Amino acid sequence: AAAPESRPFEADVAKLLHLMVHSVYSDRDVFLRELVSNAADACEKLRFEAIETPSLLGDDPKPRIVITADKEAGRLVVEDNGVGMSRDEMAEALGTIARSGTRAFMDRLETAQSKDGSKEGAQLIGQFGVGFYSVFMVADRVEVASRRAGSAEAALWASDGKGAFTITELDPAAAPARGTRVTLHLMEDARTYAERWMLERIVKEQSGHVPVPISLAEAGAEPEQIADGAALWARPKAEISKEEYADFYRGVAGQFDEPALVTHYRAEGRHEYVALAFTPSTPPFDLFDPDRKGRMKLYVRRVFITDDAELLPRWLRFVRGLVDSSDLPLNVSREMIQQSPVLAAIRKGLTNRVLGDLEKLAENEPETFAKVWEAFGPVIKEGIYEDYERQAQLLTLARFRSTASSDGFRTLKDYVADLKENQTAIYYLAGGNPDQLRSSPHLEGFAARGVEVLLLTDPVDSFWVTTAQGFEGKPFKSASQGAADLGAISAPDAADKPATETSPAVADLIAFAKTALGDAVSDVRASDRLTSSAVCLVAPDYGLDRQLEKILAASGQ
Ligand code: ADP
Ligand code: MG
Repeated sequence: AAAPESRPFEADVAKLLHLMVHSVYSDRDVFLRELVSNAADACEKLRFEAIETPSLLGDDPKPRIVITADKEAGRLVVEDNGVGMSRDEMAEALGTIARSGTRAFMDRLETAQSKDGSKEGAQLIGQFGVGFYSVFMVADRVEVASRRAGSAEAALWASDGKGAFTITELDPAAAPARGTRVTLHLMEDARTYAERWMLERIVKEQSGHVPVPISLAEAGAEPEQIADGAALWARPKAEISKEEYADFYRGVAGQFDEPALVTHYRAEGRHEYVALAFTPSTPPFDLFDPDRKGRMKLYVRRVFITDDAELLPRWLRFVRGLVDSSDLPLNVSREMIQQSPVLAAIRKGLTNRVLGDLEKLAENEPETFAKVWEAFGPVIKEGIYEDYERQAQLLTLARFRSTASSDGFRTLKDYVADLKENQTAIYYLAGGNPDQLRSSPHLEGFAARGVEVLLLTDPVDSFWVTTAQGFEGKPFKSASQGAADLGAISAPDAADKPATETSPAVADLIAFAKTALGDAVSDVRASDRLTSSAVCLVAPDYGLDRQLEKILAASGQ
């Protein structure tokens, strides 16, 4: 064989490697994700090439990834039977920075270096994941033996990650029959990566759904399959049973209940992704955490990336599941995630789908939907004031207790359909609980006229009612606020109808009350609001609603 040919890394690779070796970055686990995803990519590439050239598959048509750990030797091997690399391909792929993601990483690094370079750089690795070169976070020597599918020759790439690599011809007998074998000689402080439990944990966590089965072997033992290469979400909906969905949901959501609703679809066209999202039937424990974070997971081609990508608006944070994108690079960074138009499109599409499915559920299975609303209505209602574009849609979806509902829910459509003659507003009363509200004197005048009043008992209600534009042209109006203007609506029992003109006796009483109460009130007036109670306190027309005032006072504003 020819003498080993030593070549320097491209300048940027050398810089990157230096950083990798000296990084204090704690999440070194990502190196395995990168290796497994490269192996899976190689298998997918072969599958693609074999469409044209079936002979490439030879007598070994099934893709596989085998991870072998040798604890004694401190060695870890990741091998695939994918497309492999020729000698030239290897020099190109593992000696330069060809990838746009890594390029972006380097650019960020340049700007970061003016500050505390090494620290910032370490953080950046975590955000980007930097592909193959991340092996040098855990290994001080790495060998890559590879044979291109259909080729008789094999080559060996080797490096200690310090500026140069060698490429030699490799005796084909010592190379994989097809594909690539990456051997890591682990650093002293990275030897846990040769432990079975560790590898199994990382693979299940990060790569459990790559489209190629993964086996794990300890030195000298038979490989054991630890991931089956079948991602549930990639299968057609019609082939997935209710139990399979429920099992998967419990795994992905860490919940123990049944999903109330499964949203599963494949988007094609401009953006390709699969989404599998579950609406739980009981609230997750962190539903009202102040950070209001969602837990939807982002995958890129079946490799787990992050559960921090905010794939849904906060008011849908109870939805659990994942999105698997075909368009994003594997090493998408946090910034890229926040700014990516791809993700913006996914977010919008997914929100539409989940809302659409909730609407269908409300229509077709009202009892199930009532449970969902009971559990998550208070969260969904945050969207009414946060998401102006969807306000009308969310108001249509919303369910309410009211003076006209016994134990069931009412919709605003129901409310508007039952408006009294001359009624121009949707009345509500906000407060602690429905029973308390039902006995409020503020409701007397409304009850006398048969005017329905929504009973709003969630803290969030006081916020959206003040900003919502109304529903079908009818503004929201507090029954405890301002002039109730019920005069135009006739009460069925004429005797109960308060006089529209204020009698001299009442005028005297009002004058007396104003003097006696002084600055404690801003006005005293006769009202249509009451029938049997003599007086009640109301908030002014344009001031804060009393319930909102209480909430703001409680939160120290
Ligand atoms: P990326 O996978 O994003 O392209 P990497 O740094 O992970 O970037 O890998 C660089 C390149 O090395 C890959 O694009 C591929 O061409 C090659 N490569 C790495 N691992 C393998 C493998 N197991 N089989 C075939 N090619 C590989
Ligand atoms: Mg890669």
